[in-house]
Amino acid sequence: MLTKTKIYLSSPHMGGSEESYVKLAFDTNWIAPLGPNVNGFENDIENYLGDKKVAVLSSGTAAIHLALELIGVSKSDEVLCQSFTFSASANPIIYQGATPIFIDSEPETWNMSPELLEIAIKDRIENYKKPKAIVAVHLYGMPYKVDEINAIARKYDIPLVEDSAEALGSSYFNRKCGTLGTYGILSFNGNKIITTSGGGALIAPDVTSKEKAVFLSTQARDDAPHYEHSNVGYNYRMSNVLAGIGRGQMEVLDERVEARRKNFEFYKQNLEHHQNIEFLEEPQGFYSNRWLTCIKTRSFEERERIRLALLKQDIESRPLWKPMHLQPIFKNCLNFTNGISESLFEKGLCLPSGSNLNEQDLYKIITIINNTLK
Ligand SMILES: *Cc1c(COP(=O)(O)O)cnc(C)c1O
Repeated sequence: MLTKTKIYLSSPHMGGSEESYVKLAFDTNWIAPLGPNVNGFENDIENYLGDKKVAVLSSGTAAIHLALELIGVSKSDEVLCQSFTFSASANPIIYQGATPIFIDSEPETWNMSPELLEIAIKDRIENYKKPKAIVAVHLYGMPYKVDEINAIARKYDIPLVEDSAEALGSSYFNRKCGTLGTYGILSFNGNKIITTSGGGALIAPDVTSKEKAVFLSTQARDDAPHYEHSNVGYNYRMSNVLAGIGRGQMEVLDERVEARRKNFEFYKQNLEHHQNIEFLEEPQGFYSNRWLTCIKTRSFEERERIRLALLKQDIESRPLWKPMHLQPIFKNCLNFTNGISESLFEKGLCLPSGSNLNEQDLYKIITIINNTLK
């Protein structure tokens, strides 16, 4: 249950016009899956991103799954995936019967290390297993090193899935995140920067691949009066009711980015005097939506002291993502690591970062942290 006093890590924040789009769906009885809000939401995202085609889906995970399917990833293929991420980046590789191989992070953006990526590709090619795809992630909204990663993908001619689930509103040298890979994906899960309560999108390079994604996401029905299938389909399309929420959320996306970036600045200004706390800075040309503000402390014990002190006051914070190569489910997967994601997991903490936090909430949080570190 939502209570007034609890402070959440990242809770939904409606803008105001969502209900009118949802009401439109009710008024016109477009409750059954498809309808004008679906097309409208896709148009809104396409206008925002520019020069790409968008298919809205039931989740970001579904979008990654379809991206891998469209690339042709199948049984016995290997896919290189950022280790420092949420499990949904990697699970669809397993859905396809393929094998994930995990790549550690570099220290500037905490995302996929271009150096380790190339080492891994060379290793796999030497073993006659050229990787079929790469999944790179803009974690916490911070763009990965796009030029370096793209150059390697191009050099070895490997398609790239850009997991932009946490990075709608971020950009790399003024190019929007989500548009920088072979396919991009977005998530509108309840904790993301904008939400449809649950949902996602596939960002495709052209109309043909978008249409293919829509076809697969609606049970792959061939053109016939009866139900005819020559492909395995999925039930992955976004509903017209939820797309209505998305239309309202797109109207306030820029404000949401601004509010989250302000949270980051507030935390930084009020905590950076502690020499034991590090913030993730934007390299030149990198623009993060600051989905979650993350800090790195000096030790696991210190991180836990802060987390538990916040919890005692009913404030939610969370350790950084546990790397995939340390997850029980992926323990037998090959990995190329350098210790960076392990150290981030050990010492890092996500602070409450919702766009709906007020000044009082923020002061309460920094006061607790300051007292803990005194
Ligand atoms: C949220 C998230 C996903 C999955 O999106 P869902 O809409 O929850 O399925 C994938 N990758 C990352 C990095 C995420 O944070």
